Amino acid sequence: MTITAPDHRRLNLQESVPAQRPSLPTCRLCGTDAYLAFTGFVPASYASDREGLRPSLVSYSCEHCGKHNSHETPENWSPPGWQWYA
Ligand SMILES: [Zn+2]
Repeated sequence: MTITAPDHRRLNLQESVPAQRPSLPTCRLCGTDAYLAFTGFVPASYASDREGLRPSLVSYSCEHCGKHNSHETPENWSPPGWQWYA
């Protein structure tokens, strides 16, 4: 029999799961996008497999509370001031 010590960090696992529906980046703790710092953005692209259009993905952190998040975004959305590199 193995006794497993409670790991409080596991409580946050659910929050790190990407949302199923594309949504605009917002810190769920602060309830605002005012403090977000975008750390990554992958534009939507067409895949050659059966998946078709792959939605764009954004990752960001909140500079106010330090919370990180990443999920799909709505079509035609990109982070404000995002720089496109060739
Ligand atoms: Zn926050």
